[in-house]
Amino acid sequence: MKTRILKETEMKEAARILENGGLVAIPTETVYGLAANALNEGAVARIFQVKGRAQDNPLIVHISEMSMLPPLLSDIPKKAQTLAKAFWPGPLTMVLPRSPLVPAIVSAGLDTVAVRMPSHPLARAVISCCGLPLAAPSANRSGSPSPTCAAHVLLDLKGKIPAVLDGGDCAVGVESTVVSLCGSRPRLLRPGGVTAEQLREALGDLEVASGVLHPLSPGERPASPGMKYKHYAPRAEVTLVKGSREAFARYLAQHAGPGVFALCFSGDGEGLPVPYVSYGAENDAKTQAKALFAALRELDRLGAQTVYARCPHEEGMGLAVLNRMLRAAAFRVVEAEKP
Ligand code: AMP
Ligand code: MG
Repeated sequence: MKTRILKETEMKEAARILENGGLVAIPTETVYGLAANALNEGAVARIFQVKGRAQDNPLIVHISEMSMLPPLLSDIPKKAQTLAKAFWPGPLTMVLPRSPLVPAIVSAGLDTVAVRMPSHPLARAVISCCGLPLAAPSANRSGSPSPTCAAHVLLDLKGKIPAVLDGGDCAVGVESTVVSLCGSRPRLLRPGGVTAEQLREALGDLEVASGVLHPLSPGERPASPGMKYKHYAPRAEVTLVKGSREAFARYLAQHAGPGVFALCFSGDGEGLPVPYVSYGAENDAKTQAKALFAALRELDRLGAQTVYARCPHEEGMGLAVLNRMLRAAAFRVVEAEKP
């Protein structure tokens, strides 16, 4: 199959492919999504096939208007209205009670469905134009870093999908925040562009699922199926190094060798004894989120075999960056010694 690269002006062509049950990679403010009509079982099944995604890992359904929400749900909790008012359109996904209209395959058989209203103008235009809710996980091969530009989508899915709609670079750069409103307390399942602090302020209460920052213990049931899977990983073995810029430099002096690279903050790299890729500014987690996945792909392109990465701070959007990096590093974290 030839994969067409559609320009912004060809948005209607993307909508036409989706109406006909095809798949299109579309830009959103978080990452590119691999979209299909969420109400068409066969189209949704092809998403799983193309991505090589585990059948038990549910998809997020994207809408462009509040009027598209009620048919997808068996109940709309009051807290969902609060969060929609505060954060939609935007990088927030809510897990809510699923209505029978949503095919079980979308939710991997769960009685809940994850819904988001993206803010990206092209994503919204495509959804409005076809008038369909779109199931759209990240448009990468499962396990590899999520795509933040059309070129990343092509690296993973060229020849496997009919089209990618090119909307340039994604502004947020990591996937949406996922919060479940189906339990007794609101629960953060995945951190993202809407921060835990913002959610707490809007809801007055928020539990953070332990899988956000810790590996699941053997036999533990994940709060969200996605927590089970290896994620965001470049080919290199990644280790997070905690500590100051100076401690990081000393650590690398002790660990330099063939195939060893550093993943550091901008301005940190000069003087390091190994080649480096940087991912945003140390005190600006938004710039880290925006740059992270491209940086991981760049390390692959450069042939990195071992990567030592500076560990991000946990506050605000830093929690989302740390969550992705811990998974990219299979939870390997070391502390650089103080002198
Ligand atoms: P992705 O599509 O790659 O952004 O991944 C979607 C994330 O949302 C995965 O981690 C899923 O496990 C999670 N998710 C989607 N639907 C649900 C649901 N109904 N319940 C819990 N987690 C969900
Ligand atoms: Mg994904």
